[in-house]
Amino acid sequence: MNILIFGPNGSGKGTQGSLVKQKYNLAHIESGAIFREHIGGGTELGKKAKEYIDRGDLVPDEITIPMVLETLKSKGANGWLLDGFPRNMVQAEKLWDALQAENMKLDYVIEILLPREVAKNRIMGRRLCVNDNNHPNNIFIDAIKPEGDKCRVCGGALSSRADDQDEGAINKRHDIYYNTEDGTLAAAYFYKDLAAKGATKYIELNGEGDINSIKETLLAQLA
Ligand code: AMP
Repeated sequence: MNILIFGPNGSGKGTQGSLVKQKYNLAHIESGAIFREHIGGGTELGKKAKEYIDRGDLVPDEITIPMVLETLKSKGANGWLLDGFPRNMVQAEKLWDALQAENMKLDYVIEILLPREVAKNRIMGRRLCVNDNNHPNNIFIDAIKPEGDKCRVCGGALSSRADDQDEGAINKRHDIYYNTEDGTLAAAYFYKDLAAKGATKYIELNGEGDINSIKETLLAQLA
């Protein structure tokens, strides 16, 4: 099974993506993670990409597109979940052309819908427990509000990630994502149009629910 997943930073895309990947045993191809591997390994590509990533800009298409398409070919033979790509219209079109040329099917495109303000609050409200990073705490989400200033699960002390509090950086990422002219939502809608013509299936998920109900709605539609 080959799947594309779209969702803004803060929508739970990473969580839902890993559940789907596990269930169908897919190669998880994440453009951001591939860049981080290159940077960690000190490759030429990593050096070029780093300056853009550090500024919160997109890495140029000439670098990103071949890198992702090569990874799809080399690691995706038994099914893939592509995450973080395409992020603009050029990438969307090039990916579709490459899939056609390689005779690869695109079974599903998933879009997690979340209003921009909600996504921003989710990121900025996130708090980390000193005892366990997986204890969910968010000062803006009633279901997982901390107990006073302590972890709601274990009572541990809470802190926030520095990059979660950088409003400028969050806005920059969301400007790219929510851009319906030539940004990431434009790329998503490119695939939605293809789905309307029967070329793939498009699943829209309401990202405002809790993790489990979103997961169940998603798995029921993929089955
Ligand atoms: P992510 O982990 O998906 O947030 O990606 C981290 C960074 O890698 C992004 O902020 C971009 O600078 C870069 N990046 C990831 N995917 C792409 C893409 N499809 N096109 C351009 N740049 C990307």
